[in-house]
Amino acid sequence: MKCEICKKQIAETFLKKLVGTYIYDAKHKKRNVCFECQSHFKNDKAKMLETM
Ligand SMILES: [Zn+2]
Repeated sequence: MKCEICKKQIAETFLKKLVGTYIYDAKHKKRNVCFECQSHFKNDKAKMLETM
């Protein structure tokens, strides 16, 4: 799984959970965001979607 903002590979925990988050775009498509980008955008979903 790659972050759709910075395009880096997103790390997974040993339980295969992504170290990051999912957000849904206007078309209800699931988009992956890494923890660093989530922090950088202060979890502002609208801004994160604009950046993709
Ligand atoms: Zn990222």
